[in-house]
Amino acid sequence: MSPTLNADLHCHSVISDGTLTPEELAQRAKDKGVELWALTDHDEIGGVARAAAAAAALGLNYLTGVEISVSFLNQTVHIVGLGFDANNTALREGLAQTRGGRGQRAHAMADDLARVGIHGSFEGALKYAGNHDLISRTHFARFLVETGVCKDTYEVFRKYLTEGKPGYVAHRWATLREAVTWIRDAGGLAVIAHPARYKFSANEEFALFTEFKGLGGQGVEVVTGSHSAADSVTYTDVALEFDLAASRGSDFHSPTESRTDLGELPALPEQLTPIWTLLQHQIQKAPQGLMPT
Ligand code: AMP
Ligand code: MN
Ligand code: MN
Ligand code: MN
Repeated sequence: MSPTLNADLHCHSVISDGTLTPEELAQRAKDKGVELWALTDHDEIGGVARAAAAAAALGLNYLTGVEISVSFLNQTVHIVGLGFDANNTALREGLAQTRGGRGQRAHAMADDLARVGIHGSFEGALKYAGNHDLISRTHFARFLVETGVCKDTYEVFRKYLTEGKPGYVAHRWATLREAVTWIRDAGGLAVIAHPARYKFSANEEFALFTEFKGLGGQGVEVVTGSHSAADSVTYTDVALEFDLAASRGSDFHSPTESRTDLGELPALPEQLTPIWTLLQHQIQKAPQGLMPT
């Protein structure tokens, strides 16, 4: 598969904090010209069977995917897993454990928002959560837009729900070791998601990449909807320095909220090894003969 393949290996469905179903995402990916697709819901693989079936029906090459929340040096880091066996017990149990506590956290977030005069946000956010176990900041953000507190979800994350702002509640997610080990032991590859989004010092970022590499992590997102062109240049150098393969994904959540649509990203820089070249055995190939003859 060529380096210029239109691969989109990061997006979210209603199973986590996206607004489309796995089937709608598969159709949208196909319509947007995506040639290899993965659904990567947060801390949950409840959508992968539906995604796989929809991709097969559409003649779309597909990889299993997930985005695991990790606590590292007092920040949340996201690790994308690709090409794992979705029936792996340790992975399933680890994800269930990582999801746990979101309800309690959401109540604490609502209490904190109430202190600045925003009431009813737990119920308001829950209404947007297709999967109540996965109630997330995104669902709170939608409630704050709906009630006119902010004009869009970008404004919400500037004024609320992030460290030091109302509605932020620190949370302990999985460890980096756990996330990478669950993915690897299930036969998949681990990828550091959108590295430019973290607020690490140079030393802390070096520690993240060194530890990740030491645990057997194999990839980094270089081209993502969360990166500027300059960020992609920065992480091209980091990928080369740490001998990591590169991934590409829109991080699409919603037609009305996301700035980058499925399949819309620039190609990976040519000097990088695309992660999909390491996943040839895990790709569910589109069945032949689907096209009308
Ligand atoms: P949670 O897993 O509940 O902490 O929610 C995190 C989600 O919030 C991310 O996956 C994004 O979908 C969304 N989000 C959007 N903008 C931001 C931002 N600036 N900082 C953190 N999360 C954001
Ligand atoms: Mn999200
Ligand atoms: Mn993420
Ligand atoms: Mn994501």
